Amino acid sequence: MSESSCPKCKCTYPYMDRSMWVCPDCGHEWSDGNQGAAEGSTDGSDGALVVKDAHGTILNDGDSVIVIKDLKIKGSSSAVKGGTKVKQIRLQESSDGHNISCKIEGFGSMNLKSEYVKKSN
Ligand SMILES: [Zn+2]
Repeated sequence: MSESSCPKCKCTYPYMDRSMWVCPDCGHEWSDGNQGAAEGSTDGSDGALVVKDAHGTILNDGDSVIVIKDLKIKGSSSAVKGGTKVKQIRLQESSDGHNISCKIEGFGSMNLKSEYVKKSN
């Protein structure tokens, strides 16, 4: 796709307004399909997040995992017991290894290290 023309009246002088094309002739507005495609293909860095469980199995958003050892909770005297099932995990970038965001019943939202869980079916 080189230059754009209005899909409605074929006018060849549309201009870019923010992310939309606007036709000065008929006032038709449309988005550039090209742009969307370009954005979709730039997942080189974002899509590179790979989180593996204790056994090296790749985890995905929405997976269920099982905690394989007792995990102390910061600022709490309780611990998440090994064997606790955690549903609907969300993967996240983390500099300290807590690359799983999840909710655990009785504890609420917390972050886990993927090396302390295994994927559950
Ligand atoms: Zn037009």
